[in-house]
Amino acid sequence: MREEISAGGVVVFGNAILLLKKYNGDWVLPKGKVEAGETHEIAALREVKEEGGVKASINKYLGEIHYTYKENWNENKCVHKMVYWYLMDTKSMETTPQREEGFVEAKFVHIGRVLDMARYDDEKEIIKVALEEIKKRRGKN
Ligand code: ATP
Repeated sequence: MREEISAGGVVVFGNAILLLKKYNGDWVLPKGKVEAGETHEIAALREVKEEGGVKASINKYLGEIHYTYKENWNENKCVHKMVYWYLMDTKSMETTPQREEGFVEAKFVHIGRVLDMARYDDEKEIIKVALEEIKKRRGKN
């Protein structure tokens, strides 16, 4: 089975988290493949910029998810994928969804709505970890 490694971000601005809308209508977190020679952190920041047009900085590591999917050109070929997630902050709500990357919208969604909108259960779990961290941070300030 082919192995794929990606990295992505839960990007926070105030009370909102960045979600991207794919052509098929699914709302997902920004992520992408880690390139040769890149750290997971650098790849995650690069993908947030490339997919959503958002310049962010890393706050902390949140955890990883893994799933298996079938290559669409060959139903018999499975890919095992790991995705490493980081909590990130940004100073601006401005976004530029990248159509070439397959996204039609990029939006900071209120933390009260983000779990309902996110397409994948494993991304929801990572968002929950992020929401706990955000709560902890607020408690300290
Ligand atoms: P990347 O953004 O890492 O470059 P990609 O766009 O090439 O990745 P994925 O987003 O991993 O590919 O999608 C490949 C397949 O896996 C699709 O069929 C998609 O529906 C499915 N998939 C994507 N994210 C998840 C997830 N979090 N959990 C389960 N299945 C997923």
